[in-house]
Amino acid sequence: MSDTASTTRFVIPPPPVSSVAVQRASARFPVRRIFCVGRNYAAHAREMGRDPDREPPFFFTKPADSVVDDGGIVPYPPQTGNLHYEIELVVAIGTAGTDVPEERALDHVWGYGVGIDLTRRDLQSAAKELGRPWDWAKGFDHSAPVASLRPVSEIGHPASGRIWLAVDGALKQQSDISEMIWKVPEIVATVSRAVELRPGDLIMTGTPEGVGPVERGCVITGGVEGVGDIRIAIG
Ligand code: MN
Repeated sequence: MSDTASTTRFVIPPPPVSSVAVQRASARFPVRRIFCVGRNYAAHAREMGRDPDREPPFFFTKPADSVVDDGGIVPYPPQTGNLHYEIELVVAIGTAGTDVPEERALDHVWGYGVGIDLTRRDLQSAAKELGRPWDWAKGFDHSAPVASLRPVSEIGHPASGRIWLAVDGALKQQSDISEMIWKVPEIVATVSRAVELRPGDLIMTGTPEGVGPVERGCVITGGVEGVGDIRIAIG
């Protein structure tokens, strides 16, 4: 925080810094923004009614304070009857960058995690039909459970490994992160051309096929081999 910022006085108490846990550490990773990649696995693009292609990846965002810790309870959100899970590899950005070349992109990554891009699918379908933004479909309260991050110093840069999700123990999604259409270096480089990447930015890298609804009381478990596991309950 700059000197100017630390001496700024506020008319109401400033909001707390959102953060995600770090595995085997008491210090947490502060969250600045959450970028999400759409349709990054061919089979998921097909199940959403699209032809997978190599068109540049597109992005949407979630508020920084939509993160939920591993083991948490996500209240069933309002205004939906079709809440969907999407298991995703999460990239945590540690250093700033603009116009980052692909071959240097991984230098900006602090670590990785496992997240669930919770989606009000009915609101998303309506938004698509009307050509409206996805914010209400994707960026609601508690919409971004993210399990404890692991630093690159510990796990390197995972390029392959099983990604999976189960609801009440029944396997729903299973693929491999090597199936991503746009790989992590390409995603990081692409974001950095549109906005300046900043420390604390998270990128959710898209979900494989098998998305579906959950009800109140469901327990969602999932993971990425070599990165970690996540477990949340729908309240
Ligand atoms: Mn997603």
